[in-house]
Amino acid sequence: MENIKDYTIRKKAEFRAEIENATVLPKLVIIQVNEDPASCAYIKGKIKDLEEIGAAYEHVKLPIEVSEEELIAKVNEFNADPSVTGIIVQMPLPKQINEEHIKRAVIPAKDVDGFNPLSTFRAATPNGIITYLKDNNFDFVGKNAVVIGRSNIVGRPAAQYLLDESANVTVLHSKTKREDMERYLANADLIIVAVGKLGFLDNSFKFKDTAIVVDVGINRNEEGKLKGDAVEDLKVAFKTPVPGGVGLLTRLSLLSNLMKAYKENK
Ligand code: NAP
Repeated sequence: MENIKDYTIRKKAEFRAEIENATVLPKLVIIQVNEDPASCAYIKGKIKDLEEIGAAYEHVKLPIEVSEEELIAKVNEFNADPSVTGIIVQMPLPKQINEEHIKRAVIPAKDVDGFNPLSTFRAATPNGIITYLKDNNFDFVGKNAVVIGRSNIVGRPAAQYLLDESANVTVLHSKTKREDMERYLANADLIIVAVGKLGFLDNSFKFKDTAIVVDVGINRNEEGKLKGDAVEDLKVAFKTPVPGGVGLLTRLSLLSNLMKAYKENK
C-alpha cells in the first residue's frame, strides 16, 4: 500500500494539473459560525489544501448570534451564485441553529461535504478511505470487511460504500460481545476501526496475516500525542498511521468532491 502522505501529494498534483490553465477555477465557499479552535484548525487545513491545488475560495465568518434564517439566506446566496462550485458550513453550529436544516439548505450539486441526504457526494472520511484502497488496487469483491463503529459520519456510510464494492460487510459496535468480535476480526481481510478509544484494537485479538487495518480513531495519549484506535505494533499486513493517515484522506476527499462538482457543472 502506498504511503498516505506520498499518495496525497500525488493526488493533489493531479488536481493542480487539471486546473492549471483553466479560465474558470473551482471555488469553495467555507462558512464559519463559530470560534471553536478545532474548527479553526480544520478550516486552516482546508484553505492550505485549496491553495496547494490552485483552487479559489472564500472564507465567510458570520457572527455567533446569527439566526437560522440569516444563515440559510447566506447559503442561498451562494447556492444561486454560478461562480461558486462548492459550499461547506463548518460544524458545530451555535444552539439557535438546527444543523439538520443547514445540511439540507446547501443544494445537492454544491454539497461537497455530502451532508445533504440528497447530495451526490459521499461522506468525506469513508469516501477518502475507499478511494485510497481502490487506488491501491485493493480488490473488495467477496472480501470480509469489518467496520467497528456505526456513527452516521464514519461507520454507517463506510459499511454502505463497502457493500457497493461487493465486500461482505459486518458492522460491530459497543453492544457486540467480545467473543463475537474476536471471531469476526479473525476472519477479516479489511478492518475499519472508528471507535474513538486509545489502543482499542490490540494484539489480544488474532488477525489474518494479510489483514489490512484502516485506523480512523483520533485520540490523545498521556503525553498529549495523537494516536489512533489501534496499537502501533498491530500484527497485520498493513495499518494506516495516526497522524498522517485517515485525516489526510479525509482532507483529500473534500478536494476530490470539489473537483467532481467543478467537472459536472462546467
Ligand atoms: P462516535 O460517533 O463516537 O461513534 C463511535 C462508535 O464506536 C459508536 O458506533 C460506538 O458504538 C462504537 N463503540 C464505542 N465503544 C465500543 C466498543 N467498546 N466496542 C465496539 N464499538 C464501540 O465516533 P465517530 O464520529 O464515528 O468517530 C470515531 C473516531 O474517529 C473518533 O476518534 C473520531 O475523532 C475519529 N474521526 C476521525 C476522522 C478523520 O478524519 N481522521 C473523521 C471522523 C472521525 P454504539 O453505536 O453502540 O455506541
